[in-house]
Amino acid sequence: MPNRPQPRFPEPNSQPFWEGAKRGELLYQQCNSCNGVVFYPRMLCTHCGSLDLAWKQSKGEGTVYTYSVVRQNRNPAFSDLGAYALAYIDLDEGFRMMSNVIGVADPTKDVSIGQRVKVEFEKQDSGDYPIPVFRPV
Ligand SMILES: [Zn+2]
Repeated sequence: MPNRPQPRFPEPNSQPFWEGAKRGELLYQQCNSCNGVVFYPRMLCTHCGSLDLAWKQSKGEGTVYTYSVVRQNRNPAFSDLGAYALAYIDLDEGFRMMSNVIGVADPTKDVSIGQRVKVEFEKQDSGDYPIPVFRPV
């Protein structure tokens, strides 16, 4: 999947996330006031409204919360993929993110709710920022 859309900057809330992805790190935020975990990247805590958020590195391990298989996508960045799994992943640190489950022979049969997965960073022909995707472990 080498040609996905790239982030556009300046984007102060998510740029640290993407710089982390460049280093092979999956980053999330945690509130210094209430310890709430925040994802996707934002300016303020979604639990208490504090502006005091810290960036943390996830181990990148989690479980498939739910998924769907996209069988056809006409967007040029995705049209050559064939069927692929779009999933919500529950990371062990307590946040949920949308991504793809890759590396399975048949996404209609080889992805399941509760499946353990681990992040990897897919390099893109479309730019410098790799995309975090998940592979079953
Ligand atoms: Zn908070």
